Amino acid sequence: MLKGVDCVAVSTICYRGMPFMIASANAYAGRGTASTMDVYGLLGNPVGHSLSPPMHEAAYDALGIDARYVTFEPDPDDLEDALRGACALGIRGLNVTIPFKEEVLSVVDPNPLAARIGAVNTVDLVDNIGYNTDVAGVVRAFEHHDVTLSGTAAVIGAGGAGRAASFALADQGMTVRIYNRTRARAETLAAEVPNASALGLDDVDLDDVDVLVNATSVGMESDETPVPAENLHDGLAVLDAVYRPIETRLLTDAEESGAVTVDGAWMLLFQGVEAFERWTGRDAPVDEMNAALRAEL
Ligand code: NAP
Repeated sequence: MLKGVDCVAVSTICYRGMPFMIASANAYAGRGTASTMDVYGLLGNPVGHSLSPPMHEAAYDALGIDARYVTFEPDPDDLEDALRGACALGIRGLNVTIPFKEEVLSVVDPNPLAARIGAVNTVDLVDNIGYNTDVAGVVRAFEHHDVTLSGTAAVIGAGGAGRAASFALADQGMTVRIYNRTRARAETLAAEVPNASALGLDDVDLDDVDVLVNATSVGMESDETPVPAENLHDGLAVLDAVYRPIETRLLTDAEESGAVTVDGAWMLLFQGVEAFERWTGRDAPVDEMNAALRAEL
């Protein structure tokens, strides 16, 4: 629940009076009337290059849901005001991204998984719960590629994506090795994740590893890889969280080694799918959302 605010009551009262801004966007987009339309969105700073609006609006179109997905870029100091305002205006759900994913925990009560991870990327403003759907993004991306999540996982990176991937794979019953450039950060994370250990990037050894996740930004808009190609093998399934470019050096090397490859757009897709399903209670139209996402990449 939004701490200190009875959001359900506020949103019930305020929902009929949608703000002028939303009404304008709605008229511009040729969608339903302001009084009936559901509004979802993304809170971050910056959010200019977000792929979430086309992905979610493709889902609304596919299922005939009268809704709109809007991006909001509040001042970094104004998170609490922004969330209370969204609540009062009847916005039903918000994704939350940098720089707010951790701070949002001081305003919204997380579900147990998000509390363990220490980060929320999806807020349900109707039920007033914060979720971390990056975890489902990792698991469902692998499952979509028929990868069995058992044995040993290596997660490269201990930032936000690394935290989500480590908890995701550990909760599937995998033993998790967390490799990070700053080893102390990997050690802090490994102390929180079940069956996890911490190592430095120079120690990467994947001989007995089944699943590899790159959760660093290495490879983003570059031809670099966090893992030398000689470490890769055909017993691996490799997810690269980086999705710009969609085909990273790591994935090219992994494919050449015979590994199963899962690009970062699948993780992005399934975190959005999970958010959509949390907010609407309906199965997401995965193919339509995927097509809309990939059309932007
Ligand atoms: P973050 O919290 O800032 O963490 C960045 C991580 O990258 C840290 O582990 C950092 O290591 C490591 N790193 C950065 N530069 C490095 C370098 N030159 N060499 C080795 N390691 C380096 O960022 P994040 O939110 O976790 O995001 C990480 C990546 O995942 C980004 O590319 C982001 O776009 C992507 N991502 C994708 C999805 C998706 O849905 N596909 C979701 C979330 C994030 P140190 O701790 O040593 O600094």
